[in-house]
Amino acid sequence: MINLITYRVCVCFVTALERISRWVLPDFAHRFLFSRSQEFPVARFFLGALFGALSGAGLFLGLFHNVSMTSVNRLLAGYAFVAVCILGGAFSSYFRCSVLLIFPSMLGSRGRAYLMLFVLYGLYRGPIANIHRNVQDVAFSMGCNIELQIKHSKVMWREVMEPFMQVVQGIVEDNGEFQDEAKSVSRKFQSIRDEVMGQYGYDSMEQGPVAAGNSTQDLYAAKTMMRCDNVVEQGIERCREWFEVKWQDCMDAIKAPVINHILCVSMRFHFLCDIMRVMKPWCREDIPVEGNFGQTFDKLNFSIDALSREFSTNVVLQEEEQQSVFGVSALREDFTEGLSKAFEETKVILDQFLGLIQLLLSCTFITIFTSAFGYARQYTQDIRFDNIYITTYFRQIDARRKRADKRYLLPLKKAERGLFINPRSLSIHPSELKLVMAGLLQVVSLAVFVCVLLAVDMVLHHIFDIIRRHTFTKFSLTSSHHIDINVGGQSMMAKLLRKTIGAFNTSSNLDMQSSNQHCLPQPRALTIEDYLWSFVPLLMMALMCCLQVYSNRLRRVIAAFYFPKREKRRALFLYNLQIQRRISYTKRQRTRLMQLGTGEKTVLSGVLSRLERLGCRLRWCCVCGERQRGDRAVECTVPGCQAAYCPQCWRDLGRICYACVPTSNWDPVESCSDTDMYYVH
Ligand SMILES: [Zn+2]
Ligand SMILES: [Zn+2]
Repeated sequence: MINLITYRVCVCFVTALERISRWVLPDFAHRFLFSRSQEFPVARFFLGALFGALSGAGLFLGLFHNVSMTSVNRLLAGYAFVAVCILGGAFSSYFRCSVLLIFPSMLGSRGRAYLMLFVLYGLYRGPIANIHRNVQDVAFSMGCNIELQIKHSKVMWREVMEPFMQVVQGIVEDNGEFQDEAKSVSRKFQSIRDEVMGQYGYDSMEQGPVAAGNSTQDLYAAKTMMRCDNVVEQGIERCREWFEVKWQDCMDAIKAPVINHILCVSMRFHFLCDIMRVMKPWCREDIPVEGNFGQTFDKLNFSIDALSREFSTNVVLQEEEQQSVFGVSALREDFTEGLSKAFEETKVILDQFLGLIQLLLSCTFITIFTSAFGYARQYTQDIRFDNIYITTYFRQIDARRKRADKRYLLPLKKAERGLFINPRSLSIHPSELKLVMAGLLQVVSLAVFVCVLLAVDMVLHHIFDIIRRHTFTKFSLTSSHHIDINVGGQSMMAKLLRKTIGAFNTSSNLDMQSSNQHCLPQPRALTIEDYLWSFVPLLMMALMCCLQVYSNRLRRVIAAFYFPKREKRRALFLYNLQIQRRISYTKRQRTRLMQLGTGEKTVLSGVLSRLERLGCRLRWCCVCGERQRGDRAVECTVPGCQAAYCPQCWRDLGRICYACVPTSNWDPVESCSDTDMYYVH
């Protein structure tokens, strides 16, 4: 049979927090803080609103400082958020409690996640960006060197090609002059050509002589003959005209008819003119045309024709682009530009990664916020949630029961210690240790990652530094040439040659000194600040792993401050639960004792009695197995019974040694008489 005793909880029990507050704070502040919810309604309202406003502003900064939005939107969102927080702070202790719970949560795993993202951010800003910059620097240096080589090659090529270019240029420029000369020759020759080829001086309708031959020689001979004939014919014609004119003059001068006919009859002798026809055979047979005239004229005509036609020069420069040895078109000017574009693209990706980290930082802050609210909610709803602390109230109940000589719990048995956390003790409970180890594992793996990245950065910097020191090159380009060619004579060919070959008469001296100083990479090492940005968050994470044990305990303290009644109910629940556990434990031990007894002497007890004789009393409680100092242990007075008990077990067993008591004396009802159940009002 179990007696259920309702117990009215004294509301004026004093917590450790309250004691500290009374000691530290002024009296009115202390009274306000620990007053009942009905007291100081106005002050409570306004201070709550102020608390809500401040926490709202803080939360807004934490949540939204990484979110990109316009300043107007940000201001509006900020006002709305703070207004909601003011309302929450003024009216809800649940809200106030949740806001305060954020601070222990920040030290916990969520805070560590926040810091981890911070480490990643530091890594991006530090070694990753530095590696990227150094690699880019070296790539640019290579590009710069290639460009320098191209530049030098261009200079040398130009130096070699310059005389040839001048010759070609000279020929192009003198083109007009040559053409003028050729034209004047052609013009002068034209009169000769007209004479030879022209069709004047004879009756062109006569085809006879033309058919005689097709060569220039034949044509010219025929033409000359025809012209000769023509001259004779014309002479006869003029002779006749002359006679005609003279006849007319004579007839006009002598007016007397008949007489004048007689006198002027001599003027009618125009048949005398036909005597000139004697010349015609001469024309046909003795015409003075040289035998090779036609051939010579043909050649000359062809030459002059060619001279006027051929003197035109066109210089066509053809550029041929060749595939470079590097697989890319390195000869193009935008080599460096292409390189920087490629690096810009990777930088864009890295920037996106950075944006993602910033977004995650905001998200982590939200999870801190929700975990705080979640704790407050579970604390008020689930009585078993986080209810493993030996609180001040727990101790007070126990002390009161001990004074009343009822079954009490403290100090806890060895087996029970694993179930409870003593918030006053700095030692880490096994259940908390698990969290610490998981956190430390996380920190260590992150630290390894950070170290690897830093090492890679350092090695790369070292390599690039070696490159910088050993790739310094000085270029010295020297060349000189002197050509002098003299062409004598005044002929056209000589002039032509003087113009062409004369252009080779150049002299040049090239002495170019340059170095790739400006192309050398300038690798940068990380500054101490960068190292600090990587390591300080890591150290803080490690510290937080240890601190989170205590910060987690703090969460219950904060919740208890806001919900004191709830805290009492929880403590009573825990106490009752443990009392029940203790009772069933004692029952089990009692049965075991009764079955086992302690009558037989074991090897161990023999050793113990020897030690005892030497003055070293060692006793173990035969119920809970804890070692007892000799004077504190309760020993069975029955002779031959070796059993010893700790005071607590002795009391729990009803001060009966079940190791030697006869089974008939056992009264099971009596042992359960002091089972109490507590209920809070
Ligand atoms: Zn014991
Ligand atoms: Zn006994």
